[in-house]
Amino acid sequence: MTARTFTGGIHPAYQKLTAHTPIRDLPPPPQAVIPLHQHTGAPCHPLVQKGDTVLLGQKLGDTEAPVAAPVHASLPGKVVAVEPRPHPAGRDVPAVVVEWDGSDATVDVQPHPDPDDLDPAKIAAIIREGGLVGLGGAAFPTAVKVRPPEGTVIDTYILNGAECEPFLTADHRLMVENPEQIVLGLRALMRAAGAPRAIVAIEDNKPDALEAMAGATRGMPGVSVEAVHTKYPQGSEKHLIKALLGREVPSGGLPFHVGVIVSNVGTAAAAGELFATGMPLVRRVVTVTGRVKEPANLRVPIGTPFSALVEAAGGFDGEPLKVVAGGPMMGVAQYTLDAPVVKGTSGVLVLGPEDRIPEPTSCVRCGRCVESCPMRLLPLYLEAYYRAGMIDQTETLHAMDCIECGCCSWVCPARRPLVQSIRMAKMEIAARRRRAAS
Ligand code: SF4
Ligand code: SF4
Repeated sequence: MTARTFTGGIHPAYQKLTAHTPIRDLPPPPQAVIPLHQHTGAPCHPLVQKGDTVLLGQKLGDTEAPVAAPVHASLPGKVVAVEPRPHPAGRDVPAVVVEWDGSDATVDVQPHPDPDDLDPAKIAAIIREGGLVGLGGAAFPTAVKVRPPEGTVIDTYILNGAECEPFLTADHRLMVENPEQIVLGLRALMRAAGAPRAIVAIEDNKPDALEAMAGATRGMPGVSVEAVHTKYPQGSEKHLIKALLGREVPSGGLPFHVGVIVSNVGTAAAAGELFATGMPLVRRVVTVTGRVKEPANLRVPIGTPFSALVEAAGGFDGEPLKVVAGGPMMGVAQYTLDAPVVKGTSGVLVLGPEDRIPEPTSCVRCGRCVESCPMRLLPLYLEAYYRAGMIDQTETLHAMDCIECGCCSWVCPARRPLVQSIRMAKMEIAARRRRAAS
């Protein structure tokens, strides 16, 4: 297989400590903290209140908003609080706190093991009720993604198994251990979107995953498995589309504008579980790694606190400097280990004092940030304009096209916090646009 790729990007040390560590199931924690906002879009309203008894898989929150996904109980028990709690995104959000009753009492669920027999709109409805969102981190509601605007023709479904962030291996292990489940989910996603073909894209440093997925998809009409070059951010959907199909998603556009939908393999695995068993999205695989004693891939109920994951991975190995939700490139530093696993939590990464980033110095105009940028932006100028308060200029230089991959910061010899500045500039531009529209 010839690995495909794109221009730009970087080659960080991959440090996939858990690539060969089988997924381990964690039992439910004593309490699950289930945020009512775990997706891109509008938050859910609670459907339960303190004192209620709930079953595993019972819907806890929902909303009529068009871009949203309901949340469900990840363990059976008693609702002990509905109140703001820490969220891995870095702020408190309303959450339902369920105390486990020690049982496995489950709601009535209905499997749909053959999605090919179902109407596409029905599949989308099942996906919505199952609370599916993108499990790669963005958490965009899957039911909305698979039903793009009327008149859109989707010719290719790309299943993203690149997993290009250092340290993370949850998707890798899912592909090796549960390829059939991923394929069932892919069939449902393809049928919902009306996509006649699909490409499963996997970085070429995962030969076992390539082999497992090739085996599971053998004989499936229109489905191929393709190796992509091992390079960060190979898992960015715009770059996967460019690498695999040569199509350029326009500035401000989305993959459906070029006839493509991209979903993470973890999302397909969750769809597979939903169609095979009827159980909504109540658990996911999380890589717990870095400075912990026993790095692990753990399948855990949504709402399990990070502290329980660190404990299950043998505890901290030395003094921790920072705990990050996600990978080192795009993850979010945590201020408390009370933050729970949410649908978009792909990893919990512990960094030590050795990983400390030196203080920034002045830009030396070396241009490395420009060379590394997969979106062909000018990070040094974006940062300088942001720091000077010249937000209009950051917009003119296409700050909104930044995918926040962090390549520019990673290569910068002056250790300038480029991506952080650009992220702030984007927030300011978005706020201005909202104000202008209201
Ligand atoms: S400017 Fe944005 S897209 Fe370009 S390298 Fe930096 S973070 Fe990535
Ligand atoms: S990589 Fe850093 S030092 Fe080099 S031009 Fe970009 S901001 Fe300046």
